[in-house]
Amino acid sequence: MQKFVYLFNEGNSDMKELLGGKGANLAEMTRIGLPVPYGFTISTQACNAYYETEKTIPTIVENQVLEALNILEEKMGKKLGDPENPLLVSVRSGAVFSMPGMMDTILNLGMNDETVEGVARLTNNARFAYDSYRRFIQMFSNVVLQIDGFYFEQFLEEIREEKGYTTDPELTAEDWQEVIAGYKEIVIKHTRKEFPQEPKEQLFLSINAVFDSWNNQRAIVYRRLNKIPGHLGTAVNIQSMVFGNMGNDSGTGVAFTRNPSTGESILYGEYLINAQGEDVVAGIRTPQPIATLKDEMPEVFKQFTATCDRLEQHYLDMQDIEFTVERGKLFILQTRTGKRTAQAAIQIAVDMVEAGIIDKKTALLRVDPDQLNQLLHRRIDDTFIRKQLAKGLPASPGAATGKVVFDADEAELLGNDGQKVILVRPETTPDDIHGIIAAQAVVTSRGGMTSHAAVVARGMGKACICGCEALKIDLKAKQFSIGETIVNYGDIITIDGSTGEIMLGEIPMIEPELSDEFQLLLSWADEVREIGVRANADNPTDAKKAFEFGAGGIGLCRTEHMFMDSTRIPIVQKMILADNFEDRMEALDQLLPMQQGDFEGIFEAMEGHPVTIRLLDPPLHEFLPDKEELLVEVTKLQILDPNSSELKKKEQLLKKVRQLDEFNPMLGHRGCRLGVIYPEIYEMQAKAIFYAAAKLADKGMEVKPEIMIPLVGHVNELKQMRQLVIDSGEKVKTETGIETEYTIGTMIEIPRAALTADQIAAEADFFSFGTNDLTQTTFGYSRDDAESKFLQAYIEQKVLPENPFAVLDQEGVGKLVEMGVKLGRQAKPGLKTGICGEHGGEKSSIEFCYKTGLDYVSCSPYRVPLARLAAAQATIRNVKN
Ligand code: PEP
Ligand code: MG
Repeated sequence: MQKFVYLFNEGNSDMKELLGGKGANLAEMTRIGLPVPYGFTISTQACNAYYETEKTIPTIVENQVLEALNILEEKMGKKLGDPENPLLVSVRSGAVFSMPGMMDTILNLGMNDETVEGVARLTNNARFAYDSYRRFIQMFSNVVLQIDGFYFEQFLEEIREEKGYTTDPELTAEDWQEVIAGYKEIVIKHTRKEFPQEPKEQLFLSINAVFDSWNNQRAIVYRRLNKIPGHLGTAVNIQSMVFGNMGNDSGTGVAFTRNPSTGESILYGEYLINAQGEDVVAGIRTPQPIATLKDEMPEVFKQFTATCDRLEQHYLDMQDIEFTVERGKLFILQTRTGKRTAQAAIQIAVDMVEAGIIDKKTALLRVDPDQLNQLLHRRIDDTFIRKQLAKGLPASPGAATGKVVFDADEAELLGNDGQKVILVRPETTPDDIHGIIAAQAVVTSRGGMTSHAAVVARGMGKACICGCEALKIDLKAKQFSIGETIVNYGDIITIDGSTGEIMLGEIPMIEPELSDEFQLLLSWADEVREIGVRANADNPTDAKKAFEFGAGGIGLCRTEHMFMDSTRIPIVQKMILADNFEDRMEALDQLLPMQQGDFEGIFEAMEGHPVTIRLLDPPLHEFLPDKEELLVEVTKLQILDPNSSELKKKEQLLKKVRQLDEFNPMLGHRGCRLGVIYPEIYEMQAKAIFYAAAKLADKGMEVKPEIMIPLVGHVNELKQMRQLVIDSGEKVKTETGIETEYTIGTMIEIPRAALTADQIAAEADFFSFGTNDLTQTTFGYSRDDAESKFLQAYIEQKVLPENPFAVLDQEGVGKLVEMGVKLGRQAKPGLKTGICGEHGGEKSSIEFCYKTGLDYVSCSPYRVPLARLAAAQATIRNVKN
């Protein structure tokens, strides 16, 4: 018989897939003897079985739940629904990968009109009993009966106002009874039924609801964002309740064993006295920092810090721990590996190696390459004198500038329109997730460092400020005020998530630098990785940045970018418009020294490391004005100034634009096809490279040019272009008397080139896979059209698993890459191979490149650190013999 339900003493931390992260860790903590309230876990397989049987709990699961419940009741000496001594439980979701706040939780289950009296008697605290009952009605109604929480909050607010209270603790037992009666009315009004009194019915309805919440909108969005597969399902944890709201000797809190924002090794967290479960995370009351617990409950604090140390040593990683104190007794409700910023991830990994807790390879695997982007963002210029408008808690580091918006939907709307926005809310809830994704940063006026907004923002690497209480937000008027200052919807603010400061307007930012710990971790990555990392850079500034970030060379210098410069474009146009060879050569002669200067700068920046320079690639019309705009200008001139020389010039230009116009430029006259038809263009470029190399060699500098021919589909194209480059080299050698060592290679970016790679290898010293074009030509998509028209829908409808222009399609495009490497190396063992499409900076594609045996990946300068780490991880994960 399949087992679907596990008591806490039947599992361990290796059973995450079955028990979910929370369930597996509760079992593990029970196993090692920590004070965990007893309970059981319904497995993720039960969730899948639930969906397979059209959302009903199969009888076998139901029976196992009842059996486990019996054992729990025996162990606790209490019974669910027993008016004399009632057992109360929590029902919580728990997926394999943590999805904080995305799914549902129900506390105090087992409360009804009878048991509430029992609880009041047993605890000698009627106020507590009624408060707990009303919380249960509120949560159950919201999660299970799907009644908007607003109705309950509104009713509670009315009662508070009527009685002249400002906070909940002022309500008496009788007041809570009145609230309960009102809540029950709300339930009848919305469901036409009484609030369910039977505890087992409550239990099974709650289990259903938690399973359902696996597929609620916010959980789906979160999974998509974090690439968590939908088939995993969630487990459900049923745990006996402990109460943090039993008086001033009780409380509840959340703590991280290290600072999740900076990585500093000190206990970090917060708690609320006399409060229950979700109050801390929900960000409704701003809690106290954990350090003050030392004075308020010294014994509990001592026990808690010891438990935190024990958990960190047990799991060998930073833990995120939830705890409750019930009448002076500490209970641990959850532990999990804590989410952290990139800065913290690096600091913790490095510290743990230095403390001998983990080894370097483990440390390298602990940092997600994608997170590193956060550290490579610009930050506020230190020399700028800040005029702070308000200060909140520095919940997630980084600086951001954007328009103020007050609503998640609005943030999404503007964000998707390419606008930079900062989401400002009293607090955020899991329903705001889409707005947080679209925003540059989040600011809340309530809630602490472990509130929903803080946890989610840190997870996404977005700047976040929480608990900025000086901010008076008026959601209706779409504005907030700080003292006299009023900030309206759409006004620009800048925030610094590392200090908690909010400032008006846009503020100067500076380029990022790598911290010492970051450099150290990357140096470990370099020791381990068996695949090179280069950068795509087209100018000396980018080349310098790439070199500073650790690139071992330039994998792609797109020379067309040098043509686009505003001082050069008129010369390039002159070259294109030339009617005869002489005129074209005149323009090319003007361009040559300019290109030479660029190459000198790049060679110098790379200090003797290889530089792959690709000869001109785009179709020539890209250097001419837009046809339609030109047509409008010509038409205007024909009417206003029909005899002008300006009109003649423009008409000439239009004629050329029309000549060069293409139906499908992606597949048109570009790449080496230009070189074959206009060899003088490639010759000029090749000569500029050789002159630059000769000049630097003359100064005693080492240069390693690798000249690359784009878009080759037939070996004869390469053969011809290779000869042209060799001849140009000879000419420069004769002229300067300096011989440059160089290689000639090609891009493999047309399927035919991959299919005939053995023939092509005979003419090439290296291959560089241009997976941007290879993806276009393999799929038969033109990238711009695909991305703007159908690709998003394809991904949403799961026609494609990912955007193949971002993540290499290993099954299709990847097969061509494998074939290219294999055939190429068959013909020429030791053929150097690399990748220079966008995929060279994406972690799963980098792993593929390593497994396929490429010598290097090349990506944009800012992705070089990411690629170094991803390359190390690929090497560690795929040990080659
Ligand atoms: C490629 O096609 O992958 C490539 C690097 O070239 P480009 O993006 O310039 O076409
Ligand atoms: Mg290309």
